[in-house]
Formats: sequence, C-alpha cells, structure tokens
Amino acid sequence: MTEFNDLEEVYKRFKERGIRLTPQRRVILEYLKTCPNHPTAEEIYHYIKGRLSRVSLGTVYNTLHMLKETKVIQELSFGDLSSRYDGCPENHYHITCEKCGKVVDFNRPLFNQIEAEAEQKTDFVINTHRLELYGVCRDCQAVGSETGLTS
Ligand code: ZN
Ligand code: MN
Repeated sequence: MTEFNDLEEVYKRFKERGIRLTPQRRVILEYLKTCPNHPTAEEIYHYIKGRLSRVSLGTVYNTLHMLKETKVIQELSFGDLSSRYDGCPENHYHITCEKCGKVVDFNRPLFNQIEAEAEQKTDFVINTHRLELYGVCRDCQAVGSETGLTS
C-alpha cells in the first residue's frame, strides 16, 4: 500500500503544493481510491454528475490530468481504447478481459527484480516497466459455457 492510497496524505500533498481541494477533485479522488474497476473518464463523469450539479466532461478530464501530474493517481492506456484511471499511483499489474474489457489488479512484487536484473545485464538505469495480461474473466467464461450448452 502506498501512502498516496491514503486520502489524508493526498490532501497534505495538495496543501504543500498550494493545490485547492475543489469539490470535483475531492469526489473524483474518493471515487478512484475506493473503486476497484479502473473506470474511464466517461464512467467517472457519469458517476459524479449525479453528485455535483455543475460538472462537465471537460472538467473531469482536466481534473484527471491534474491528479495524474500530481502523481496521486495513474492513467492506464490500452492501445486505441479509452484510457482508464487507477487510484493507486504505484506500479502494479493489470489483467484485461478480452470479452468485456474489465480490468483487474494483479500484484506480484517479484517482478521488481526484473528491473534490477535488467540494470545489471544492460548497464541501463531502468525507470519503469510494463506488463499487461489478457484473458477471459469468470463472468465471460460463464456466458461462453451457457451458449455452449444451449446450442
Ligand atoms: Zn469479461
Ligand atoms: Mn490497478
């Protein structure tokens, strides 16, 4: 768990940097820190629209950009699909369902050893790495077997 999973730590960072905690920022942050679903900007917009009266999709995009720049959330991009947003800013791994697009976390700290090994073998200074897993989620597997039985 990162310290920036803790909203109090995030708000402290805002204060140090003179960033104002607007209602939009607070609602988006609270949503992302508690939601395990890695929502898109559109999904975030639909969620907060019902909670804040004056909010546009543009505001949501601007807020997400600012939160990403402040390194309290991260953006996950998947080729030409819409970016998804993750309330955990630390490097971790994701599995994407190829049928429904669902994205879930998969954590395996051992992968950090790959960076150390790569540095040793190449004399690079490694800053980051990416690993993406793709498959079919349990819900979509169930749908597949249902149609298999009825056909
Ligand atoms: Zn699925
Ligand atoms: Mn994640």
